[in-house]
Order: sequence, then structure tokens, then C-alpha cells
Amino acid sequence: MRTEADFVVIGGGIVGLSVAHGLLGRGKSVICLDGSDTDFRASRGNFGLVWVQGKGINAPHYAAWSQMAVREYPEFVANLTEDTGIEVSLQQTGGYEYFSDPEAMDERLNQFKSLKKALGGDYPVEVLSAEDIRKEEPMVDGETVGATFYPHDGHVNPLQLLQALAESCQKRGLAHYLGERLTAVSQNGDGFHLQTEKGLEVSAAKVVLCAGLGAKVLGPMFGFKGLVRPQRGQVLVTEKLPPVINRPSVTIRQVNEGAIQIGDSKEEVGFNDNETQAQMARIASKAIKIMPKLAQLRLVRSWGALRVMSPDGLPVYQHSKTMPGAFLVTCHSGITLSATHSRNLSRWLVGAESAPDLSAFSEDRFNV
Ligand SMILES: Cc1cc2nc3c(=O)[nH]c(=O)nc-3n(C[C@H](O)[C@H](O)[C@H](O)COP(=O)(O)OP(=O)(O)OC[C@H]3O[C@@H](n4cnc5c(N)ncnc54)[C@H](O)[C@@H]3O)c2cc1C
Repeated sequence: MRTEADFVVIGGGIVGLSVAHGLLGRGKSVICLDGSDTDFRASRGNFGLVWVQGKGINAPHYAAWSQMAVREYPEFVANLTEDTGIEVSLQQTGGYEYFSDPEAMDERLNQFKSLKKALGGDYPVEVLSAEDIRKEEPMVDGETVGATFYPHDGHVNPLQLLQALAESCQKRGLAHYLGERLTAVSQNGDGFHLQTEKGLEVSAAKVVLCAGLGAKVLGPMFGFKGLVRPQRGQVLVTEKLPPVINRPSVTIRQVNEGAIQIGDSKEEVGFNDNETQAQMARIASKAIKIMPKLAQLRLVRSWGALRVMSPDGLPVYQHSKTMPGAFLVTCHSGITLSATHSRNLSRWLVGAESAPDLSAFSEDRFNV
């Protein structure tokens, strides 16, 4: 495999592979240095939503970036499937946020109203009454007083997506080194020289740091602040059923294989991805309030995984000020943003004239 390339991407999770995929598509040669299976890997423990609703409530630029991402998803995924033969089970026919408290729903609707105004009217969210939502989703009952609906929201099988990206990248010529953790970097007139724990040496003109939580340690080596922190989420999985849920919500979805996944914890517990009975009980009882029949199902699996969070929860896209040619790319919605990371972020990384303006996502917004 090659040891010199136009770009080295550090991290082979959904963010690193989406970025590598886009760069390869622009004719760049790419090496990916990836860690091992024992690393924290959000890309293997997430909820699979392709989601706009609720994102960027106070940050319209993030809402717009997410909208662009989901609008490009169907074509992006169709191309991946054509390229690899891997079906990623994208269902993008809209999604819900359920409410049991009328005041909370009113507050959300006001937030959406302001956001819609800030986006020049382009925020096609709809409101469903308790009666409407029960017609759409017969499993919904109990305390639900209504729901919001965003037509481009949806979900995907995140592991199949990751596999399709890996295979497509491989077909495009990616040199993917697994178990090669970056430990040292230097830069001279020839570009970047990187060394891994096991002694592999690779060089490139540019480096993109997509190491998830690894950015905390690796970021400062490239002159970044690297302000990421773990936030745990736990997910419950029921036995498989025939289709009973038509569309996903932020916390409940029926996956393509039939199981229902439930999850919504946001826990600040450091680098600890264990499941806990207390959270699992809380997640289950919240879901049962929305869909009481869930109480009759058998839980067969659960897991905990760590989100990669920036201080304000928005993505960070930063070109290094001290090591030109090094870029930091990190976000907490890597599934949702996969299409735009491949198609649009890559334009910024190669310095294309048509590159999107990503200055609002710079690390400069954090005053530390
Ligand atoms: C419970 C949960 C639910 C979620 N739900 C959703 C959702 O519904 N929709 C959505 O869009 N997003 C969701 N997310 C977020 C999404 O999973 C993440 O944004 C995404 O996986 C981050 O991908 P990543 O590639 O940055 O990080 P990771 O998947 O963590 O990958 C980082 C990679 O970097 C490698 N690495 C680290 N250090 C080094 C090093 N020194 N050298 C080389 N490689 C290194 C690691 O080995 C790893 O492969 C969820 C996350 C969680 C935890």
C-alpha cells in the first residue's frame, strides 16, 4: 500500500471515511490511518438518524448545513449502492418529535417559527395534532399530545453505511491502514510526515484530523484546540417485529431488520461507555409513555456509546493556523452529515473556488 499521498485522513469512522470518499472522488490520493477495535467508535454505536429537526435552533447556519446534507442523501446513497452493491436501508419519508407536554410543544413551535424566519422561510416543518399522529402511527397512544414532522428526516442502517463507504473508498484507491494509531507528526517544505505507534511512516501534502474523541489528544499536535468531550448515549433494542412503526422519531425507530431501537440518554460521564440499569429503565419508561404497547416487547440487547461533542454541540471545521495544510473535522451528527462531508466539505479541503463558507464552524468561536 502507498505511504505517500495528497491527503492523510486520520480516523476511519463515518467522518473520516465520508471525507476520504469525497477527496478520492475529486481525484486526490488518500491514505487513512485508523485506530483499533478497542477505541471508542461512535460510528458503530449510534442511532442511525438522518435528521434536521431540532438541529441549529439557535444557529441557523447549522440548520442550513444539515438541510443541505439530508437533501443530498438519497442521491449520495444511491451512488454508494450502485458502486458497491451494498444496500444501506435509507428510509427518508419524514420523522417526528413527540410531545406529552403542551407547553413544551408550544415552546418548540416558537423555536421553529424563529428558525424558519432566519432561514428565509425554508424550514418545512409541520405540526400534527394528537389525533393526526395516532392516524399516522397506530402505536402512539398514552400521553402524547401532538408531534412535529419534518419531511426530509429519516434513518439509515449506520453499519451498512459505514461498510458501503469503506468499500467505495477502497474501490477508489484508498490506502486504509487499520490498527495504525498516529503518535507523531512533523511538517517541513515537503509536507507532513506522520508516524504511528507501530512505526509506520506516511507523508502527505495535507492532513485531515477526523479522529473523533482522539482529537482531544491529537488536535494540539496540529495547532488545534481539540475541544471535544465524550457524551454517553444508551440504546435499547427489542425483539424483531413485522413493520409497526411507519416513521422514526428522535427516540424510537423500527430498523430495517424489524427490531425497535429506543434511546435518548445524554450523559456527562467521561470516557465510560457502559450501560446502566437506571438509564435503561428511564429510556424504556419514557418510550412506553409515547407507545404503551412497547411494554409488551422483549428487550434483547442494549449498548452504550460515546458521542463526540464540541462545547456548543455544533461541528468544528478548522484549518490550522500554525500548520497550514492540516484540517480538523469533527461533529456529533456524523451520520446525518455524511453526504455533505463527502460532497461539499471535500471542496473546502481541496481549496475549490466553489467551496462552502465554513467560517462559522471555526474553532475561533470558543474563547479558550
Ligand atoms: C448513542 C449515539 C447515538 C447517535 N445517534 C446519531 C444519529 O442518530 N444520527 C447522527 O447523525 N449521528 C448520531 N450520533 C453521532 C455519530 O455517531 C457521530 O457523529 C459519528 O459517529 C462520529 O464519527 P467519527 O468518525 O468522528 O468518530 P468515531 O466513529 O469515534 O471514529 C473515530 C476514529 O478515529 C480513530 N482514531 C482515534 N485516535 C486515533 C489515532 N491516534 N490514530 C488513528 N486513528 C485514530 C478511531 O480508531 C476511530 O476509528 C450518535 C452517537 C451516539 C454515541
